[in-house]
Amino acid sequence: MNDAVVSAGGAANNLVVGALVTSVLVAGVLMSIGWRRRHLDGGRAFALMAFGAAIWAGANAVQIVSDSHLIKHLTVDVAYFGVCIVAFFLWRCMTQVAGPSRLTSKWVVRAAALPPLITVPLVITSDWHGLMFADLRIPDGVGPVTSTVGPWFIVHAVWGYGLIVGGVAAFSQSVLRAPRHYRRLAILMIAAVTLPLLVNVMAIGSISDLGGHDPTPIALIFSAVAMAWGVVRLRLIDAHLGLVPIARSVVVESMRDGVVVVDRTGRVLDMNPAGAQLLGTDLDDALGEPVAGVIPGWNAIDAAAQPTWEFPVAASGGTLTVEATLGALGGRDEPGQLIMLRDVTIRRAAEQALTESAARNLHQSRHDPLTGLPNRVLLFEELRTALHNLPTSRGSVALLILDLDGFKDLNDTFGHRSGDEVLRELAPRLGQAAGTRACVARLAGDEFAVLVADSDADEAMAIAERIVAIFRTPFLVDETEVTLGGSVGVALAPQHSTDADGLVHAADVAMYHAKRTASRATIYASDADERRPDRLILRQELRKALVSGEIGLHYQPQVTPSGEMVGVEALARWHHPTRGLLEPSEFLSISEEGDLMCELTDVVLELSLAYAARWNAHESGIRIAVNLSAQDLRDPGLAQRIATALERHGQPAETLTLEVTENALVLARDGARQLERIRAAGVRISLDDFGTGFGPLASLRQLAVDELKIDRSFVSAIDNDLRAEALVGGLIRLGHDLDAVVVAEGVETKACADRLSDMGCDYLQGYFIGKPRPDMALARPLARELGAD
Ligand code: C2E
Ligand code: CA
Ligand code: CA
Repeated sequence: MNDAVVSAGGAANNLVVGALVTSVLVAGVLMSIGWRRRHLDGGRAFALMAFGAAIWAGANAVQIVSDSHLIKHLTVDVAYFGVCIVAFFLWRCMTQVAGPSRLTSKWVVRAAALPPLITVPLVITSDWHGLMFADLRIPDGVGPVTSTVGPWFIVHAVWGYGLIVGGVAAFSQSVLRAPRHYRRLAILMIAAVTLPLLVNVMAIGSISDLGGHDPTPIALIFSAVAMAWGVVRLRLIDAHLGLVPIARSVVVESMRDGVVVVDRTGRVLDMNPAGAQLLGTDLDDALGEPVAGVIPGWNAIDAAAQPTWEFPVAASGGTLTVEATLGALGGRDEPGQLIMLRDVTIRRAAEQALTESAARNLHQSRHDPLTGLPNRVLLFEELRTALHNLPTSRGSVALLILDLDGFKDLNDTFGHRSGDEVLRELAPRLGQAAGTRACVARLAGDEFAVLVADSDADEAMAIAERIVAIFRTPFLVDETEVTLGGSVGVALAPQHSTDADGLVHAADVAMYHAKRTASRATIYASDADERRPDRLILRQELRKALVSGEIGLHYQPQVTPSGEMVGVEALARWHHPTRGLLEPSEFLSISEEGDLMCELTDVVLELSLAYAARWNAHESGIRIAVNLSAQDLRDPGLAQRIATALERHGQPAETLTLEVTENALVLARDGARQLERIRAAGVRISLDDFGTGFGPLASLRQLAVDELKIDRSFVSAIDNDLRAEALVGGLIRLGHDLDAVVVAEGVETKACADRLSDMGCDYLQGYFIGKPRPDMALARPLARELGAD
């Protein structure tokens, strides 16, 4: 060996030792980086891997510079200790970063840790048996130890490189599933981690003479630096890359809604447990099956026209109603399909209950419960229809009003039950006397009406006579025969009046005339029209009251479940000069009969917006709710009236909520269209007395509303009726499905308020929150109280 060769060998030694020492220092830094992140997936393993690399590189450096045989020999043992640590923990770190999988399971980890249990003792028991190294050559001066490898060395190398390749593969697979904005950096990082290892393998394999030096620990440090860069700078571990897809699948697995994925051939590709449950099938049975056999109704679906359909499924507790919604999945070249399944049983049951209660309400609201006859409402409807058709019919519209004579005495003598008995017995007799073409109605206590369209004076008087005649047969009360009398007034349209109120008035007048003159049946004559009955007087008074300022408002607060006030409802009151304070029930029907509702609404709008303006001048954000009537909805000028009122008081449209009942909507056919326009201008629309109307679902389909007010008959029942509670829960869900805020009215107890807030009701109104008062300032502390406890 000449000098030049020796000095070239010395320079190579120095270079390698320099690189190894640098590697040890870098490994120290990496160790501390990993250790600080030890609570994160892969952090602890990373620190241990860096520790192993430091031992390996350090041992190799000492091996080269030392000239003691013993020390050189020892460094081989120590280096192998490091190698085992590095290979195992590099794999462990990468699989942990990749996220939980089979690679991180207990048995796989234990199996991966086994080979070092052979390698380390083999290396340490200097008795090599030729298994690890067939022969070990230790130079006398500086320079590395060289060897000829034995069979276990090969096994050990396969183990080490296998772990590294496996770890990188798992890591890459996970990184490539990462959210898009991580992916480019992640690919860069994979390249940075694998490149040094590749170069290392190529160096060992192709450049045969490295002078016995092993560049592997240096390559490893390069890789580890690349990983640390990813860990620290790209926060790849912190981002829990492997957790993203796992989180997604956990969400889908634990969803209450069912999810079914269908592949391009129409077979079920995937399904979550909720989906299997909703379909009543077994997950394993369904996967791979044609979807038509798994989801009922699939074949009949026209996805473009109607992607949602419903089907029943038998379940242990009865039949479920499942709603399916179909959506496309993937791009144009991957035409998969996604089906969402939702249990809508409760919602449908609530809707069904509503429909049934609507039909009942429709009947009840137009019929008298005692006699089963049509009531005032239905009579007026029929009357209006008949008057409307008058121009095309040849005859007249006849209206007869019957008032019993001596009914009060009967009630006083025999009691109300007997009075009721007589009225019930009277109803069929009246029907018979009036004939099949007539509509017989009970107007009030002992007042009845008979309406016959396409009639004339002769026929009307004939019916009147027959009615008078039915009183000749006595009524049986408590086994006593009782004789009553009746007075009938007859009026005809168009002869006596052409509008409903006028006609009722005329028949009333005729009836009073009959009573006074004891003539039993009388047809209207204008000279008899002097003595006005009570209602007529009140109607005249109301007309005046509307302009004289006798109408005032009470305000009732609406609060959130935590007690924060969001608005008030304005409720009309009549300060009558002689009768005192009158509630709406005492004057609304009079106002309705007198076509005074629009005037009333205008007064209420005026007062309430003035009030809102005063309030909002101090504290902002109060909303005011005003009730509308069917007459308002029929008025084509409604939108203009509202806009003008808002403008006059300088209030934004959002301040005002208009409460309409479903019945008003049904009665005013164009009402929904009007409200749609008003709503477009920013005024909130609230569906009042929700659940009591005759067409609730129809009106919801017709009109988008901002608010649903659950009627107090349902709300007050929750305290002691579980079915009412379920229904209210269903109504709240229905409201939220429609993107409406849900208000419960008639909240009278704390228990009720608590149940409602548990069920997700948005706002509460009722005596427990605050009674209607002329000045709401008084009710504010009450609202606060709710929030306080
Ligand atoms: P509504 O719209 O359902 O108004 C709520 C009614 O329930 C009010 O009666 C209110 O005093 C009462 N109330 C509030 N909280 C409770 C409670 O916790 N328990 C019970 N049992 N009742 C409670 P009010 O003021 O007698 O009004 C009756 C109806 O008259 C109103 O029912 C509304 O339909 C109508 N109304 C009132 N003011 C106006 C108005 O200005 N215009 C029109 N068109 N209708 C009005
Ligand atoms: Ca209301
Ligand atoms: Ca209401």
